[in-house]
Amino acid sequence: MGNKRILVTGGGGFLGSYLCEKLLEAGNEVICVDNLFTGSKRNIFHLMGNPRFEFLRHDVTFPLYVEVDEIYNLACPASPIHYQKNPVQTVKTCVHGAINMLGLAKRVGAKILQSSTSEVYGDPSVHPQVEEYWGNVNPVGLRSCYDEGKRCAETLFHAYWLQTKLPIKIVRIFNTYGPRMHPNDGRVVSNFILQALQNQDITIYGEGNQTRSFCYRDDLVDAMMRMMATGSDVTGPVNIGNPGEFTILQLAEMVIELTGSKSKIVKRPLPADDPRQRKPDISKAKALLGWEPSTPLREGLTKTIAYFDQLLKEDPEY
Ligand code: NAD
Ligand code: UDP
Repeated sequence: MGNKRILVTGGGGFLGSYLCEKLLEAGNEVICVDNLFTGSKRNIFHLMGNPRFEFLRHDVTFPLYVEVDEIYNLACPASPIHYQKNPVQTVKTCVHGAINMLGLAKRVGAKILQSSTSEVYGDPSVHPQVEEYWGNVNPVGLRSCYDEGKRCAETLFHAYWLQTKLPIKIVRIFNTYGPRMHPNDGRVVSNFILQALQNQDITIYGEGNQTRSFCYRDDLVDAMMRMMATGSDVTGPVNIGNPGEFTILQLAEMVIELTGSKSKIVKRPLPADDPRQRKPDISKAKALLGWEPSTPLREGLTKTIAYFDQLLKEDPEY
């Protein structure tokens, strides 16, 4: 697996920074590209001294010229708060970013992996979600800049494969959590942990009976690397996530228990187009990648709580 030159776009983010770390550990050279919109130098600071690591501040909506063997395309804000801040830029990042990275892959003959999302299923009417399900997405809603942007990126990847047989890989990532999540991105795991650690109210949107399936970061990145290592016949899309399904209320209760917090649960209005349920069918990932997640939610949450606890001690303002 080692000795390749690998480009990770979005490498300064939550998942990208951990992926860079794992690729370096495997002996590769890594070029990390990020415009630091939601990512941070703090996430990659510990890699800066490594001679096989290089950071480029660059926006993927503009062309990039580097020589690489593999490309992991992760650049894109992932949390609703951040991707809704500038919806036009979100669409551009998904679509122009994909066009630029696919063009680069074609020019240098690189394998390219797209980090797509369970959001391509929208508010799903098929449960659990299988890759064959086409989804239920509002094209003009609050989430559409991200959902439709990511759907179009999948279309572009598929079109390049159809037309040029470029070795593409598409993974559809379900909710993932872990250390280095952005503390202010409003995602449910980081919100609940920070609220619990500070004994603030835990904000449940709606009644809390909507479900999500939470995958620990390390399991997820392992699956991405396995997907990249597959032969050219495997293009995906392949779901990756943890099929354990929890209501948001169950998550809140677990976080309170694990932190020993005095926080109370309060209810807030449910945002528009918030999917009611989400759970991956991972049969394809099991068969094609020999992979399934091994970190139970309790264990992953305990590690994530320790990370945020430390962050609060170092920087109470974070
Ligand atoms: P993140 O926000 O921490 O990371 C995204 C990174 O992309 C950030 O470092 C950001 O600065 C960078 N970026 C954004 N726009 C860019 C641009 N135009 N040019 C260059 N860099 C840009 O989010 P994450 O959770 O690490 O997500 C990584 C990828 O995984 C994203 O593509 C996301 O859509 C996908 N994904 C994540 C989840 C999840 O639960 N974490 C779920 C589904 C899909
Ligand atoms: N959510 C919540 N309280 C929060 C943040 C989120 O109840 O403080 C809910 C949100 O409405 C959604 C679920 O938790 O139903 C997951 O939200 P997140 O933004 O983490 O991810 P996504 O909706 O994109 O899966």
